Amino acid sequence: MPIYVYQCGDCLGEWKENHLMSESIDECPWCSSKNIGRKPSNFSYNANKQEKKKKTGDLTKEFIENSKEDLKNQKKELDNSR
Ligand SMILES: [Zn+2]
Repeated sequence: MPIYVYQCGDCLGEWKENHLMSESIDECPWCSSKNIGRKPSNFSYNANKQEKKKKTGDLTKEFIENSKEDLKNQKKELDNSR
C-alpha cells in the first residue's frame, strides 16, 4: 500500500496515511480542516530536498565547522586531563 503524505493548508501540519489509491483523506486530523493536500511521500521528499538545497549546504558547512571546533575542544580537554 502506498504511503501518502498529507499537508494541511490551515495549520500546516503534515502526516502520513497508508491507504489505497482509490481512497482519500479529506480532513486534517489536527484541526479538522478540509483544506488539505495529498502528495506521494517520495515526491514530497524530493521537493523538500530541492527547496532546501542551498540552506542545507550552508547548514552542512556550519555543522562541519562546529565539528572541527568540537574536535579541538575535545583534544584540549584530553591534553588538560593528562
Ligand atoms: Zn490542520
